[in-house]
Amino acid sequence: MEPSRRSLAAPWPMGFRGHGADVSLFSFGYIKTLSALGGGVAWVQNASLRQRMQQLQQGWPVRSRAQRLWTVLRAFVFKAFLTPCLYGFLESLVTTLGFDFDRVIVAWTRGFTKLEYIRQRPSVPLLETLLWRLQSQHKAAFEDSSLQSSVARRRGLAKQMLAAGLGAEVVSLGDGANSWWLLPILCDNPRQVAQELLMRGFDATSTSTQLQRVQSLASSATRSAALRASDGEDFMNRVVYLPLDPDLAPSAARQLAEAVKDALQSSDAPARGRPASGRRVLVTLLGGALVAWPSLISWLPSLWLIWSLLLLALLLLFLAAKVAQCLAGDPDLRMDPKLLQAMSALPKVEGVAFCRERPLKLRLEGAVLLTGATGFVGGGILFNLLARAEELGITRLVLLVRQRRGQTLEDRIRQLRDGEMFRELRETFDKVVVGLEGDVSLRNFGWTEDKTWPQKEPLTAVLHCAGDVRFQQPMQKAAVSLISATLQMQQLASKWKAKRFLFVSTAFVHAQPSSEALEEKLVELRDFDPMELYRDAMSHGSWAKTAMHELGFPNTYTFAKAIAEHLVIRACDAEALDVKIVRPSIVGPAWAFPYTGWAGEKPSTIVGAGALLARRGVRVFRDGFDHPCPVVPVDLVAELAVKGLAGGGDSRILHACLDAADADKMPSFRFFTKRFYQLLAIKGFMSLPELGFNMKLLRWCCESATVFYHVHALLNVLPMQILDFVRIFLEKALAIFGQSLSRRFSSTVRILASCSTLPMQYHPFSSPSTCWRFRSSLRLPEGWGLYEYLFICCTAGYAFAENPLKGPGRHQAKRFTEIRVFSHESALSDAFSAFVHPQVSLFYAFAAFVVRLALGWQRLTVSVQGASLAVLTDLEAPLVLCPQHRSILDFVLIGLVCFQFQPLLPIQLPQVAADAEFSNLPLLGWALGGLGAFFVRRGGGAVQPDPALRAKVGRFLQSGRPLEVFLEGLRSRGRRQLRLRTGLLKALRDISQRTVQLVPLALSYELLPEDESLYKEMCGQPRDPLSTLGLLWWVLRGLRGELPALGEAHLSFGSAQKLEASSDLDTLVSEVQRQLVDLTSVTTLHCQALAETLELPLPKVLEAMEASQLPVRPSRLAVPPSPLPEAARWALALQAATLPPLRRRLPRAWGRWLVEGLSEEEPGGAPPASLAELCGAFCAQLQTAEAAARLCSEALRRSGVQEVTEEHLLQELLSQDTAVPPPLARGAACVVAAKGFGAFGGVAKGKPRQPSAVTLLWPAQEAELKDEECLDRWGFKDTKFVAQYVDGRPAAQITSQRYKALGRQPLFQLWELFQRQLCVPLNVRDVLPERPLFELPQVPTALREALEAALPAERLRLDSFARIRAGAGHGLADVWRLRSREPGRFFDAVVRPESEAEVEALLQAAARGDGFGVIPVGGRTNVTSATKCPPFEVDPRPMVALDMRGLSRVLWVNAEDGVAMIEAGITGVELKKALELFSVTMGMEPDSMELSTLGGWIATRASGMKRARYGNIEDMVLEVRLATPGGTIWQRHGDPAQAETSIGRASTNLALPGLVLGSEGCLGVVTAAVVRVRPLPQVVEYQSVLFPDWDRGATWMREVARLPACLRPASCRLMDQNQLQLAQALKQGSAQNSALANFRASLRDAFLSWKGVSLSEAAAVTLVFEGSRPEVKLQKQEVARLVSNFGGLWGGSASGAAGYALTFAIAYLRDFGLDFRILSESLETMVPWSRISEVWPAVQAAVRERHKELRLPGKPFMSCRMTQLYDEGTWPSVPWASSQSSRSRPLRIWSTPPDVRC
Ligand SMILES: Cc1cc2nc3c(=O)[nH]c(=O)nc-3n(C[C@H](O)[C@H](O)[C@H](O)COP(=O)(O)OP(=O)(O)OC[C@H]3O[C@@H](n4cnc5c(N)ncnc54)[C@H](O)[C@@H]3O)c2cc1C
Repeated sequence: MEPSRRSLAAPWPMGFRGHGADVSLFSFGYIKTLSALGGGVAWVQNASLRQRMQQLQQGWPVRSRAQRLWTVLRAFVFKAFLTPCLYGFLESLVTTLGFDFDRVIVAWTRGFTKLEYIRQRPSVPLLETLLWRLQSQHKAAFEDSSLQSSVARRRGLAKQMLAAGLGAEVVSLGDGANSWWLLPILCDNPRQVAQELLMRGFDATSTSTQLQRVQSLASSATRSAALRASDGEDFMNRVVYLPLDPDLAPSAARQLAEAVKDALQSSDAPARGRPASGRRVLVTLLGGALVAWPSLISWLPSLWLIWSLLLLALLLLFLAAKVAQCLAGDPDLRMDPKLLQAMSALPKVEGVAFCRERPLKLRLEGAVLLTGATGFVGGGILFNLLARAEELGITRLVLLVRQRRGQTLEDRIRQLRDGEMFRELRETFDKVVVGLEGDVSLRNFGWTEDKTWPQKEPLTAVLHCAGDVRFQQPMQKAAVSLISATLQMQQLASKWKAKRFLFVSTAFVHAQPSSEALEEKLVELRDFDPMELYRDAMSHGSWAKTAMHELGFPNTYTFAKAIAEHLVIRACDAEALDVKIVRPSIVGPAWAFPYTGWAGEKPSTIVGAGALLARRGVRVFRDGFDHPCPVVPVDLVAELAVKGLAGGGDSRILHACLDAADADKMPSFRFFTKRFYQLLAIKGFMSLPELGFNMKLLRWCCESATVFYHVHALLNVLPMQILDFVRIFLEKALAIFGQSLSRRFSSTVRILASCSTLPMQYHPFSSPSTCWRFRSSLRLPEGWGLYEYLFICCTAGYAFAENPLKGPGRHQAKRFTEIRVFSHESALSDAFSAFVHPQVSLFYAFAAFVVRLALGWQRLTVSVQGASLAVLTDLEAPLVLCPQHRSILDFVLIGLVCFQFQPLLPIQLPQVAADAEFSNLPLLGWALGGLGAFFVRRGGGAVQPDPALRAKVGRFLQSGRPLEVFLEGLRSRGRRQLRLRTGLLKALRDISQRTVQLVPLALSYELLPEDESLYKEMCGQPRDPLSTLGLLWWVLRGLRGELPALGEAHLSFGSAQKLEASSDLDTLVSEVQRQLVDLTSVTTLHCQALAETLELPLPKVLEAMEASQLPVRPSRLAVPPSPLPEAARWALALQAATLPPLRRRLPRAWGRWLVEGLSEEEPGGAPPASLAELCGAFCAQLQTAEAAARLCSEALRRSGVQEVTEEHLLQELLSQDTAVPPPLARGAACVVAAKGFGAFGGVAKGKPRQPSAVTLLWPAQEAELKDEECLDRWGFKDTKFVAQYVDGRPAAQITSQRYKALGRQPLFQLWELFQRQLCVPLNVRDVLPERPLFELPQVPTALREALEAALPAERLRLDSFARIRAGAGHGLADVWRLRSREPGRFFDAVVRPESEAEVEALLQAAARGDGFGVIPVGGRTNVTSATKCPPFEVDPRPMVALDMRGLSRVLWVNAEDGVAMIEAGITGVELKKALELFSVTMGMEPDSMELSTLGGWIATRASGMKRARYGNIEDMVLEVRLATPGGTIWQRHGDPAQAETSIGRASTNLALPGLVLGSEGCLGVVTAAVVRVRPLPQVVEYQSVLFPDWDRGATWMREVARLPACLRPASCRLMDQNQLQLAQALKQGSAQNSALANFRASLRDAFLSWKGVSLSEAAAVTLVFEGSRPEVKLQKQEVARLVSNFGGLWGGSASGAAGYALTFAIAYLRDFGLDFRILSESLETMVPWSRISEVWPAVQAAVRERHKELRLPGKPFMSCRMTQLYDEGTWPSVPWASSQSSRSRPLRIWSTPPDVRC
């Protein structure tokens, strides 16, 4: 030590003395982390302070060399783990083991758990190191350039971090100058932030300080603000240290800064889960492999060894699993149904109320002195005395209490008073109770002087209850604590003039049971004098011991009590003191007071045995006989004691045990053990194999005493002794992870070791060979039940097993009735629970494992109301579970519950009637099917009786498995209770022929995985469809630990309802529903949601709930989000509002909305005061919503809506700025519309069904296709879309096979798409009726004659159909007019000439005399009402339609020159076919080509789909022949004799085609035209391309437009996302709708999302390549180049063809929409490329605005298609559809186009 001291006194080499502080501390090396490895120096300015410090240090011991060595070793290990790889491995390992890594590191690296560890002088080696460092290293170190650069680097990094703006308070100088190793920041949630950073790979910590707040010694007056201890505390509570390693790359520092920002944001959100256990295990394994790689390498050559070991391990695993399964299947584990039933029959009245219900009718008057009040029986007596204080006239209650474990008298009394048991009696306690310090087992109570009675009131009675209840005490100790203490108390009672002395003894003073009931009198000690025995016991005790055995006493406790009884009675008699002795037998937990199940603070008797069994402290008791166990509830003992104290009872000795007559009302110990095991099994507190093993032990040990002794020695005693032996070593090992862990471990082991012999000690009482029978005046309370009390004992036992230091709390028994089915622990335990399950196949076990894993990711706890399970034990009739439908998790949870309880209850896995939507989901659908689900179409049965369903139901009835049916049908979006449906029950009733039991099953969730999406639906957004991809994505998130915690799901079964052939289904479902509502429960999270919604404080809400006797369970969320997200908040609040106490006080209409279809009469009434505020606040919100709904309803009516539907009203409420929350808007819409109560989510609700018109139908595929045109819809009569139920599910279907690409399958998706996009409910049956055609007025005779004179009669058509059809185009206005049979002006006649001469004749006739008007018509496909007759006011002449379709011949074709002459009336399709005969094509293919004509194209300047290759009509027409009243105009070039070749360009004259094109028939009638034709293409190839979004698609189109014409595809159309969906929905018809197809679709989706394309945003291009092979090849090459440049993905030719076919389908779809009052029209215009990005958004905005302005229901459906590419721009076409139902003037919306601004 000397040289060190000298050197340390030497001046500092650097001369640095700190910053001038009073005391500066310098540390070296790991001083902070590893207990002074490098040492430290304190520089103290003040000499006297320095001296005092030195003096203090001198008094401390010197740290030993061994300790130093230990420190160095730890430092080395620690250093080794500092490499990132090993550190990561350590983190993973520690976290996998379930420890908090941060805490473990702190515990490991710091040893300052006791001050003694640092109150040591440094060891000599440390001082030597320090000296060496100061002398040689220090200077060099400061000059060391690497250190300098390291410091500079750290500072640089710190600066960089600070510059990044961390968003947190930084504890650093602005330049980061004082940031060396760490950068401290302050935030509100440091642990969470640190955890978040740790998860992102940054070693941040929030616990690296052990500094603690020290109260300032300075007086408050001198305390400066800067030195406030609270500031330091605040700092320590908020600090997070960010790692600033000099090796950190700048990019990593940036990432760290980003991570900090994110972590700070996410620290507001609920804590993210720990990294997925799977990943951790992987990391751990990899880490392990890394550490052990040398040994692994040495193994490599012997691979066969690895294989054989692996096989051996597998074999062992298999065998172990089989043994475990066998044990788990022990038949005795099957639950006793009565025990389950007992759970719900626990005492209803408890506590003070129970005492008051049983008055004693006795008086004590005065003060009472009580001993043992802090014990179990004494506590019960104290409670009873206080509860009856008034009744008995007790004015003072003096408790004689000893000091214990440093606690003063006051502490102990306060502790007693504050205990849960006296909650009801605190006031009386404060008024009556006083403490008196004294220890009955000490001479003169430990008092130094003689005490007088310290109270004013006279002492009336003394109750001595204190006593040491240890059976195996040495004789003397037992004599002191039980005899001396009692006699001393009796003497005190005499001295203080008490009138009565009551002594609590034991019923087992009767040494042995007898066949006769034991009497309430002193036990016979034969010739032994009690006083002599006492005297001997107090000396050496050997004679007393002999006497004890001789008299048959099993232990010193009962023996000493027996002696005490004799002596006390003798002494009291001598002093004329009234004496009573109360003899309880085994005192069990309370029946009713202080509260049910109360069992004191320490486990004792039967409760203790239960605790030991549950904690494996003891494996087996000997339960040889089935005699009732002589247990008595503590409260009944207390009541008898108080009664005795007050003078009640006939004799001086009172047996506080069950009378012989009632003995059978107590279970035997074996009975208790067996049921206890069953309870443990059902509660999942012990694994089934272990319990099965215990059950077997129980049976073996019952059979034979020899077996018991051996098993007991082996299983109870030996392990405890071994454990006790190794305890010392394990304590040390555990100390590494923290002292508290080590302490807890050692105390537990000590207790268990001391208990290992209890099975032998208990045996005489618990399971005697002869039954204990007592004569007793104690009577059992009303409602007593063996099973109920058994249950109470079990719960109390388990409560102590859970926490041996704390007794069962209030409602413990009731809480115990709740069974935790699942709560995530580890993947290993999940695997264990699933795979060792008896009686199930591997598939089910695997499914259970997967389910458990998945629930674990969501940290969902699943619990069941235990008592409710009783219903499952009585399974005489087939069982149908009727759960609420809240989540996709429902059937998963129910399956899990049944799986888990399968060996314990006679229940099998249910067969689920699942929605057919699941059936087509790959993976999930298959898994469900494999697990026994069968698929039904919701609501289908109501429409079409489903024989398949009946067959499925029949199969279920035969299988014997329960059936699970979601009667609500649809998942409740807002956790309301939806109307129950009867379709499936009907099938069940009709087919079962026997009674079926319907069991309601309430599912109460906290949070749901779908909360967000359900809320979105409530807000009016479309429903997210189920998809396997979604499921896979969810799994991925689960594996990554990113799924949010869900809290708890609580299940409760209702009582069974019988479904018989004669049952009235409505009554039945109404009862089921009532139960479902009543069984729904809430947690504090629901209350929080209510509090936030109603802006009330949470305690107030909780209080209100309590006042309405609504049990509120604590939330299972570790950190409930606060405030709750909107989506979850409303769901939770509405769930709470459905509960009767609250719902009944809401306006009745709202109550009915919350619980649909509940027929019960709702009693309203004034709420209790505490509920009034809550109800008032709720009602206020409802009324506001209702008022807003009324306003909207009026506004709608004013705007022309005739019938305001609920959906329409809702939409208004949501779109208007009403500030009504969406869930309430739904309610308000329902209440105000008052038209039934539709479900959330826009599903069609049953409007009054109209009898459907009878239509003659033929099979679609068999019908012969006829080109007969429709009158009031697009296309041909045989082809249209219709809606119908297919297999009970609505679908759209096309009636013919005209368009192969559309297939023939029912288009379910199309029907859904309509509803989803338009957000209006559609009803298949609610179709616009077909009306009869109106008759037109007769044709004027003059006209008829004129026409007949001009043309042959057969050219004339005068029927209404022809006249109406000719006068209407295919624009929406025309078609709607026809559909609604709106009268108007139509043609007087239609003529169809077949030659140009006939046309000329007609025109001449028209010009004659008054004449008549002639309008040429072609295909009448115009969309501009171009063929509509002018009003009479404009042209009063008769009107004749000149139907040009009679002129439809190809006059000649000159393929060589590429020209042809064709008559104008030919339709596009005819023309195409005709030209094909000449191997040429015109290439003109407008979408309307099936009907439109060449003349029409010319007259309207039409454009075709293949414009890019062939051009528009103006590019094709070379010559026209124009018929006029004055003759035909024909502009010829060259020699008329060479008609076919005299075509060519002319430089002079106006070109006639130029005049006629677009003339709309005003200049004359085009009778024929010479057009360009081209050879038929060699190749026609369809293709499609997907682009991530519209914008990228549009840019790509622009690039294609820039290609030279020959390189462009013939057709190139871009469709937006909505149109793509439409195409997909149509394509569904051509594809097989099977699971395989869905699987393929899922794979495709997965591939697309991998490529960054989401189908919900993508845009698609359909392409048609046409031309010669080299041409097409070249085109494709160019296009492919552009596709890859713009991130497109090829979508295949099938999709291309489907997209092309959509062209033909669109018009049919428009008319299909009209059937359901959905009006649609296309907006088309030319847009220059420069404005293309603005137009589509602007159109959307304008359309939405218009829709809103007109208050139309639902949403407009819009899509955009870019159809043509021009050099200067493009031609977007925007189909727009809106529902017009219930509007008075539906066409108003189209009267003025929307005002598009861009
Ligand atoms: C579903 C659908 C798809 C369509 N797709 C396209 C498309 O892709 N490209 C496109 O450009 N248009 C399209 N249209 C619009 C329409 O098909 C065209 O305007 C077409 O050219 C009209 O031809 P039509 O034979 O049906 O003429 P009609 O509708 O009968 O008449 C249109 C006008 O031409 C006049 N007319 C007709 N024949 C003669 C004649 N021989 N001599 C003088 N005047 C005459 C009529 O008096 C009338 O004014 C479509 C329409 C619908 C309903």
